[in-house]
Amino acid sequence: RQLAIEQSMRELEQKGVKFVRLLYSDIHGFPRGKDIPLEFFPSVVEEGQAFCYWNIVDGLDGSPLHAPEMPDRGYPDMKAIPDLSTLAVIPWEKDTVQCLADLVDHEGRKIDISPRQFLKKVTKLFKENLAVTPILAHELEFYLLQKSGNGWERYSDKQGLIYTVGYRSDERGLMQKFMEAGKSLHLQATAANHEHGGGQFEVNMLHGESVAAADRAFSFKNMIKEVAACNGLMATFMGKPFTDQPGSGFHLHLSLVDQQHHHNIFSDPSAQDGISKMMKHFMAGVLHHAPALTAFLAPTINAYKRLIPNNIAPVAANWGYDNRHRFIRIPPERGSSSRMEIRGGDGAANPYLISAVCMLAGYDGIIKEMELQPETEPGKSLPRTLTESLEKLHADKDLCDLIGNAMVMAYTAVKRTEIERYQTYVTDWELNEYVYHL
Ligand code: GLU
Ligand code: MG
Ligand code: MG
Repeated sequence: RQLAIEQSMRELEQKGVKFVRLLYSDIHGFPRGKDIPLEFFPSVVEEGQAFCYWNIVDGLDGSPLHAPEMPDRGYPDMKAIPDLSTLAVIPWEKDTVQCLADLVDHEGRKIDISPRQFLKKVTKLFKENLAVTPILAHELEFYLLQKSGNGWERYSDKQGLIYTVGYRSDERGLMQKFMEAGKSLHLQATAANHEHGGGQFEVNMLHGESVAAADRAFSFKNMIKEVAACNGLMATFMGKPFTDQPGSGFHLHLSLVDQQHHHNIFSDPSAQDGISKMMKHFMAGVLHHAPALTAFLAPTINAYKRLIPNNIAPVAANWGYDNRHRFIRIPPERGSSSRMEIRGGDGAANPYLISAVCMLAGYDGIIKEMELQPETEPGKSLPRTLTESLEKLHADKDLCDLIGNAMVMAYTAVKRTEIERYQTYVTDWELNEYVYHL
């Protein structure tokens, strides 16, 4: 290990690197971290970098978490241990590399509620118990906004710009800038295009092993927001930022590869539809747990405004062959590309958490050999609010057992404080609706 550290340091010095940006995901999927001058990095690799533990579960508004479920432990430290395999040059910064970190407590124990750690644990379950490697690809949509007076307006705002490429929809050539930046960060962005909404875009990423793929989705969100900011724009993955425009989804493509023979176990050329029993059990598990999964897939108060009819987003736990209105779509490719696309995810979702919980739901389906409902079955309705989906999560004891108590409690505590803040806040909608007539 010592040798590996020395070699990494020498390589970084030779490249003229001066800083390491050490990043980890909080429970929201938001990147937190510190910039470390290169000369101090070796000791961080050895001993870890100290952070305040409670920071993983702070509110997005910066409020510290005070919840009865989470005992007040007086804001102890945790340590971020750099994962040197994730080192990559940040192209929009001068002389800085990015490094992702794993989180441990005082005793060096892995922290269960660290999203990256959680996904690693779930991945291990598949490898050890089923001898398969989960393969994921994340598809992310987002809006770009530009300054207008004191506020923001959509970066491109004409109707019908879907699949428009070039300067008429992307005046400053941002899509290619994103893909260039993604190359330096090894994000393997494969394509970019304008989406249905005015100023809404999508960039696709290559599939890969679960943790590496989620790392890329995590870095990707950060990169889009940073590169947009460098260009004076704001990018947002918020699921439904505009009442009259489509929402932004976070679709998750998923398959399982046999560790010994390296073939996709979701493929079965002898089946009429080319899809294996394993894939159907997995899908059955995801659909069985879908209401509870929604707590993670649609993690904000706002996210439920995207999950409405006629919005190319799902409203029920159903599935279909190449059907974009369904919760699970089976894309037309078969053989090594046999996979499912889980379409419930909201742009704001945490890549590590949604990957891990969907994998657990599918795992339960496989272990219990759950029967897949017919394609025509309407399926259970998805929760309509964050409060309802948290109730569904708690009611789903089997899924909660698989997720683990620490994560369920931490996630619920954070989300309940978010709901509480909203409950006591008077919105513009209420004033418009009531203040004049009532
Ligand atoms: N924007 C849609 C969503 O919210 C997805 C559209 C698409 O399939 O690209 O999920
Ligand atoms: Mg799309
Ligand atoms: Mg998609």
